[in-house]
Amino acid sequence: MAHIKIDCSDSSVVLVCQTCGGAWRAFAWDRADAHDRAVAHEQRTHPGTEEAQAAREQWRRRARSGRPSLAATRR
Ligand SMILES: [Zn+2]
Repeated sequence: MAHIKIDCSDSSVVLVCQTCGGAWRAFAWDRADAHDRAVAHEQRTHPGTEEAQAAREQWRRRARSGRPSLAATRR
């Protein structure tokens, strides 16, 4: 299981893989980029695990549903 912590600030995102004991760190410009990098690291270094991938899917679903849709505003 690859547990990668995504730490967001106003201007950038820092990733730390806790499965690597903090030995793997990466920098990203936004959350979408951060999730892509986390998944790439997971596939490269922790093959067979899908935690980062699942986290990205969950984030994408949340990002989509967070936006007001036309159906929700129509009465
Ligand atoms: Zn790792």
